[in-house]
Amino acid sequence: MKNKFLRAVLCSLYPNICVFCFKRLPFDKLICFGCKKLLPETVINRRTAGGYPCVSPLPYMDRFSDSIKMFKFKNSPQLAETLAKIVANRIKFDGIDVITYVPMFIKRERKRGYNQAKLLALRLSELVHIPCEDLLVKFKDNKEQHTLNQKERKTNVRGVYRAINQERIKGKRILLIDDIITTGNTLGECCRILTRAKAGRITCATVCAKIK
Ligand SMILES: [Zn+2]
Repeated sequence: MKNKFLRAVLCSLYPNICVFCFKRLPFDKLICFGCKKLLPETVINRRTAGGYPCVSPLPYMDRFSDSIKMFKFKNSPQLAETLAKIVANRIKFDGIDVITYVPMFIKRERKRGYNQAKLLALRLSELVHIPCEDLLVKFKDNKEQHTLNQKERKTNVRGVYRAINQERIKGKRILLIDDIITTGNTLGECCRILTRAKAGRITCATVCAKIK
């Protein structure tokens, strides 16, 4: 009885919302029935610039893209929990030594309050029991990719990332995490830097993939 009361109070203080349609849910649910039915059964396989494989459970469209926009631009770090669970449930993690993420320029990260890719990687790491490590930094600020056209996106990311913790990269099978793959230039550039630092094998995973 006491627990039920506590749950009801918690529920009204912190209403649980569906990560995709933002409808209120019971305390123990993460996704509503309607949205759950819309989750694709197969993952999307893409290639980054430079040809590295990238797997994503969701297409970047409709309510899935609304969720990513909310996660990224509307101060909603809590969405990492459910989005990471979807990635963990749909992607194979065999033969991965370390999880890492696409870093943000420090000033932009401070302004947003968090790096959404890092939050996803950290939660995934807990869910699949593979360590998450900081392997890259973004040392140059550039224009945000989504504000540029296809051609500009290619050159915009060139030379803005640097490898750190090189001894943790060398020979390792790395899973690189981001929230979304659109052109694949950002992930491709990060993979190029990790390869240059002698990574063993690199695969990428994102929550959403833009379908061409
Ligand atoms: Zn929903």
